[in-house]
Amino acid sequence: MALIVQKFGGTSVGSVERIRAVADKASVAHRTGAQVVVVVSAMSGETDRLIALAKNITPRPNPRELDVLLATGEQVTIALLCMALEASGQRARSYTGAQVHILTDSAHNKARILDINGQRVRQDLDTGMIVVVAGFQGVDKKGNITTLGRGGSDTTAVALAAALKADECQIFTDVDGVYTTDPRIVPEARRLDRLTYEEMLEMASLGAKVLQIRSVEFASKYNVPLRVLSSFAEGGGTLIAPEDASMEQPLLSGITVNRDEAKLTVLGVPDKPGIAAHILGPIADANIEVDMIIQNVGADGTTDFTFTVHRNDYDRALESLEKVARDLAARGVEGDNKIVKISVVGVGMRSHAGIASKMFRALAEEGINIRMISTSEIKISVVVDEKYLELGVRTLHSAFSLEKSST
Ligand code: ADP
Ligand code: ASP
Ligand code: MG
Repeated sequence: MALIVQKFGGTSVGSVERIRAVADKASVAHRTGAQVVVVVSAMSGETDRLIALAKNITPRPNPRELDVLLATGEQVTIALLCMALEASGQRARSYTGAQVHILTDSAHNKARILDINGQRVRQDLDTGMIVVVAGFQGVDKKGNITTLGRGGSDTTAVALAAALKADECQIFTDVDGVYTTDPRIVPEARRLDRLTYEEMLEMASLGAKVLQIRSVEFASKYNVPLRVLSSFAEGGGTLIAPEDASMEQPLLSGITVNRDEAKLTVLGVPDKPGIAAHILGPIADANIEVDMIIQNVGADGTTDFTFTVHRNDYDRALESLEKVARDLAARGVEGDNKIVKISVVGVGMRSHAGIASKMFRALAEEGINIRMISTSEIKISVVVDEKYLELGVRTLHSAFSLEKSST
């Protein structure tokens, strides 16, 4: 018998009518003879509302208590959905993350799933029930409630699908699949029928917020076929699955934007061994993640050292650098938190040269200055001024003809 896990995001459960519609969708799947597990998010806006409440009490809420608060959002939805299912004649039962033993580490507000015991869910499924599980939450080994970071319900769904060896994990959302770029920025963006885990992982890491990064990591590690679909429209959506060797890979699959970047430079540091470690050591000690790094070739025995961090960490990073700059007798420190990172992604890039030059030429023709560049086997990223975000993405989308089908 087939087993599917369906996940519905905030907008899809944003009202009583929509919760009823979700109940219908789950019932339809159940009637085809499949066993159905449904994972839901909090109703749209609810997580933001709870965070704002906490911040009204104190600017830095205790992370453990914040998790106790945030987990209530999803608890509301599971109960309402089960009521809707039962009202339509379907047997159903709801569970919080802790009740189905979604065991996580103790990193409150960004916990990682360590293990899931699927036994209780399986027992209910075997009696013909639809099982509804709260997304985004778990429990650590001491019994504390934890949450998995924004967008974490995706990860709950995929992890459950892996634990239950589901045939497919379906992520229902407010778009009908994964697009060549965020359709809110480029209306001509095209829905992709299929993507590899690797491409989706790059897209999610580089800013396509349609799936939480960790959910794609899980899917790839446990080979869970993942499908992104619309809650509101019919259609096959986008399948994310292992690379299919028999299919010709398109050159590029998509373009992503990351708005969360900030750039810092230490000017005129001595060009000698140990400098990078000296600059980045204190940054790492402060638990700040560094993304791109550039060290220029020195001319007069000194060099400039530039790197990017998450915008939320910008002030702390600047503070740390000012101290390091004094220690190293550097010429100064510069920072810019009005930058964005635009990336092109595609496994087809592995076997094609010339993508970088085409990308740089297209941006140059629009007068967009590139501040930093980084590449990997299947992506090229550039940092540009924030004001060029939309122009940059649109320019690249049309330069690579992504609005046209590759087949
Ligand atoms: P949910 O609440 O269902 O989890 P999200 O808001 O987390 O939904 O994710 C869906 C949103 O992701 C879409 O509304 C879209 O604006 C955005 N998005 C960003 N990049 C892409 C992309 N490449 N393809 C599809 N959607 C994207
Ligand atoms: N409700 C959580 C959030 O808004 C989790 C999720 O929706 O995936 O981030
Ligand atoms: Mg989401």
